[in-house]
Amino acid sequence: MTEEKSLNFIEEIVESDLASGKYKNIVTRFPPEPNGYLHIGHAKSITLNFSLAKKYGGYTNLRFDDTNPVTEDIEYVDSIKDDIRWLGFEWKQELYASDYFDQLFQFALKLIKEGYAYVDDSTSEEIATMKGTPTQPGVNSPFRSRSVEENISLFTQMKDGKFKDGEKVLRAKIDMSHTNMLMRDPVIYRIKHAHHHRTGNQWCIYPMYDFAHGQSDSIENITHSICTLEFVPHRELYDWLIQKLEIFPSHQYEFARLNMTYTVMSKRKLLQLVNEKIVAGWDDPRMSTISGFRRRGYTPESIHLFCEKIGVARRENLIDIGLLEFCLREHLNKIALRKMVVLDPVKLIITNYPEGQSETLTSEDLHGENSPIRNIPFSRELWIEQEDFLEEPDKKWFRLAPGKMVRLKSAYIIQCDKVEKDNTGKVTEIHCSYIPNSKSGNDQSGLHVKGTIHWVSVQHAIDIEVRLYDRLFTIEDPANAEGDFKDYINPNSLKVKTAKAEPSLANSHIDDRYQFIRKGYFCLDSDAKPQSPVFNLSVSLKDTFAKKK
Ligand code: ATP
Ligand code: MG
Repeated sequence: MTEEKSLNFIEEIVESDLASGKYKNIVTRFPPEPNGYLHIGHAKSITLNFSLAKKYGGYTNLRFDDTNPVTEDIEYVDSIKDDIRWLGFEWKQELYASDYFDQLFQFALKLIKEGYAYVDDSTSEEIATMKGTPTQPGVNSPFRSRSVEENISLFTQMKDGKFKDGEKVLRAKIDMSHTNMLMRDPVIYRIKHAHHHRTGNQWCIYPMYDFAHGQSDSIENITHSICTLEFVPHRELYDWLIQKLEIFPSHQYEFARLNMTYTVMSKRKLLQLVNEKIVAGWDDPRMSTISGFRRRGYTPESIHLFCEKIGVARRENLIDIGLLEFCLREHLNKIALRKMVVLDPVKLIITNYPEGQSETLTSEDLHGENSPIRNIPFSRELWIEQEDFLEEPDKKWFRLAPGKMVRLKSAYIIQCDKVEKDNTGKVTEIHCSYIPNSKSGNDQSGLHVKGTIHWVSVQHAIDIEVRLYDRLFTIEDPANAEGDFKDYINPNSLKVKTAKAEPSLANSHIDDRYQFIRKGYFCLDSDAKPQSPVFNLSVSLKDTFAKKK
């Protein structure tokens, strides 16, 4: 039996609601505004909403919160659906708040008829001034006492396009001295002569967030409407509107949003990075978007593990991005195919290996049992990493140096005899001899060498482009730092190199995951062409997170 995990606070609420019979069926929704690509914070919300409904036998709707015509786009709708599916979740219904515009208009009329809403001609500045402050009550608008008939007539004219943007708004009539500022007659409809990506020019009035979100929840019989903490003050209005409209009693619950070090996580900021070409697009592998992580080589499993580890709480915090990287390593260590790639090559010649000869060595592709075996060609001339050779090493050096022995991974033990240099003193060739009876798997040499280095055969190597990524920001919390968050962009977040790779990498597939041994985890990039492979560094091998803890 697996260990029973303790419930998070939302699961506790759901279990008590089911036990008391308050709801028979759990229905949740994920409500993105289609004004950008989803980021890793959304993954937390998606995982929470979908897993919760699934655990309790209910379902989850995908509802596009598309009540703001100006910033929304079909490209975003498609990318959002892609990302959710990639994470492994399937929604019950695909819905759009804009499908409820008629219904929402009727709801507004109902409020007007019952004396709970009025048309206000004040400008937005006047409304703001009349609102008061948290310590001072607001004052009633001169238009607050309009008759129901006049309000119906004006609201209908607003809908019919009789007024310009900003000329009038519809406000809920609650209490201008309420302690919660959001309850001081909030605006619930505004005029906006704008084309909407789904309803076209049919509407020129659009509901505000607070008059769309809860109402949409209610229309869909959402039982637990889960959102982030900044909506706590909205809950009172959410409840008030549902109560006055006498519609399905959805309830709102708030949890702490995900904040992560070295990352910005607001679509507005991510859009700036895209528009100002600081990154190559929404799916740039340095972005905190789900599509960026996917292109970088993240797996859905690694993101699930991350969401499980961060849990669901009601207090804001800043999660170490090292935890996400740790979760990726956990998964890639199990699935990544081991390959040999030399990033900074220097030539090594095995002088006692016959010219023109080559042989095929074998190596395990995966870590652990039952690994597939791959062939690796070996010959007289090899590429090794420059950093694996030192001319004047200290005592602790176990890699290659004049007179020293190392094992070539999956191949032979070699000894360094001499080096050739160019006229700047740079080592251009390392001359070695190999021990013929020291072959890996059948070593009869009796020699013990401490160091093992990787290599590729010069004659068989393929050139690949590798993109080495570092953090996009130089400080932990760029979003909350002084000045503009773009002041903290790391100018060295991308390094591009041409590397020498073993030939089996020529047949890479975009879904394959690799460990370039001793170098890091890599995956094929979407920029790759059949004759010019491009690989992204997904994450380094070293775990900086565990060490810090
Ligand atoms: P952003 O501020 O990044 O633009 P948003 O909240 O405006 O995000 P929406 O599309 O409105 O984005 O969000 C869809 C859902 O995802 C909402 O329920 C929202 O609360 C949730 N969400 C957004 N950001 C995070 C985050 N960082 N952590 C957890 N949930 C989040
Ligand atoms: Mg939003």
